[in-house]
Amino acid sequence: MERIYIGMGSNLAAPAQQLRSAIDALAHLPGTALAGVSAFYQSDSLLPGQPRYTNAVAALDGTLAPLALLDALQTIENDQGRERVERWGPRTLDLDILLFGDRPIDEPRLKVPHYQMHLRAFVLYPLAELVPADFQLPDGQTLSELLAACPFVGLERLPL
Ligand code: ATP
Ligand code: CA
Ligand code: CA
Repeated sequence: MERIYIGMGSNLAAPAQQLRSAIDALAHLPGTALAGVSAFYQSDSLLPGQPRYTNAVAALDGTLAPLALLDALQTIENDQGRERVERWGPRTLDLDILLFGDRPIDEPRLKVPHYQMHLRAFVLYPLAELVPADFQLPDGQTLSELLAACPFVGLERLPL
């Protein structure tokens, strides 16, 4: 059994509802159990000119293989109308594997930890709601260090 963290984002077609549907789908994934969900946050798009994003992080306890999880997440994205038109384009749903236990993964289709999670406030602040205060990434960096270097800018925590 490994603890897995999933970053979720949406900025099209009722984003908060998209995240709620995704959480429901994650809760029903074979080989995993939903262990927690952060509050929802709103964040500025990384690219200018897009609607703001709604983001959250979910924790899963799973026994399935990382690539099987990636396939399942991409199926959920597609079921919720994800269209890949341009890189980093607006989307109904994005599900990224942030962390998979304490293992680094380096496959052509899957790099874990997610390559930019340490730079993204909309990932780090919701993740911090779900982990112990002394939480470390596989490379030994603590989440506290990453948060200290990543200002809470362009981000708004939504009421529960
Ligand atoms: P970013 O990766 O910068 O957050 P994005 O989420 O918009 O951008 P996508 O178009 O959703 O990028 O995904 C592109 C590819 O990234 C996927 O097809 C997948 O194979 C690959 N990928 C690599 N590592 C991961 C990961 N940790 N989680 C999800 N997908 C990943
Ligand atoms: Ca992403
Ligand atoms: Ca993605």
